[in-house]
Amino acid sequence: MLIDLHTHSNASDGTDTPAGVIAAAAAAGLAVVALTDHDTTGGWAEAAAAAADTGVAVVLGTEVSARARGISVHLLSYLHDPAHPALTVELERTRSARLVRARTMVDRLAEDFDLTWADVVAQTTPDTTVGRPHIADALVANGVVADRSAAFATMLVPRSKYYVPHYAPDALDAVAAVRAAGGVPVFAHPGADARGRIVPDALIEAMAGAGLAGLEVHHRDHSPEQVARLGALAARLGLLVTGSSDYHGAGKPNRMGENVTDPAVFEAIEEQGTTAVVRP
Ligand code: AMP
Ligand code: FE
Ligand code: FE
Ligand code: ZN
Repeated sequence: MLIDLHTHSNASDGTDTPAGVIAAAAAAGLAVVALTDHDTTGGWAEAAAAAADTGVAVVLGTEVSARARGISVHLLSYLHDPAHPALTVELERTRSARLVRARTMVDRLAEDFDLTWADVVAQTTPDTTVGRPHIADALVANGVVADRSAAFATMLVPRSKYYVPHYAPDALDAVAAVRAAGGVPVFAHPGADARGRIVPDALIEAMAGAGLAGLEVHHRDHSPEQVARLGALAARLGLLVTGSSDYHGAGKPNRMGENVTDPAVFEAIEEQGTTAVVRP
């Protein structure tokens, strides 16, 4: 029983539609898949409707952008109430800040490269959570770079002169907001040190105190050292351990089901969540 609890559709920075993500999960032989687009529940209805057609159970979730001491934190929220006012307001605030931020980055990039805001909009659908991957896709479409990875390596990393940060809630507040909305908060790729700075054990301990349910220990961006560190930390703090692909369709090399989560951990997440898992 293969369970993958972290994927993206074109409601954020994946390239498949939400139904396409669930179909890809079925093609990979998964029993359970979570759709976790950045800062949105916009893909939930379409993904839920695809469960019956594909035979895959769908866990509805969101990857919530947050920040701790200037470090970017991605917090997976599973099975929360999508209409909960406080969480909805936070996600909307982040999504509109992302738009302003993307426009500012495009203004900076346009001074040196063939790129307009319309090129970036052309890479999105209405209501997409806009991120750097859409800027990357526009640069690829304009022949400036070969692929997303090349755009990130040279122009979109935090140390680039084109980079602009965006508002995101504090990580401890985000954990509390997810719990208040009946969601199950799991820290996504907490040891992905190639992307930028990562948070220390003490911060993860504080997040556990605020209600964190688990750590995404098994993820392709984790070195063996990080897997060992995070596994030990989860055991010490009594946190669930998950493994997931972070599938983005054609946008990243991550293959559906390349990392998976233990069925007992999935059961614990289901028990703690407010919204029901959509069974086929
Ligand atoms: P943003 O949400 O705008 O901060 O952009 C972060 C997103 O960019 C992540 O969720 C990843 O999907 C994507 N990303 C980060 N690094 C890379 C990379 N090296 N190549 C392709 N996509 C990346
Ligand atoms: Fe992403
Ligand atoms: Fe992430
Ligand atoms: Zn992700």
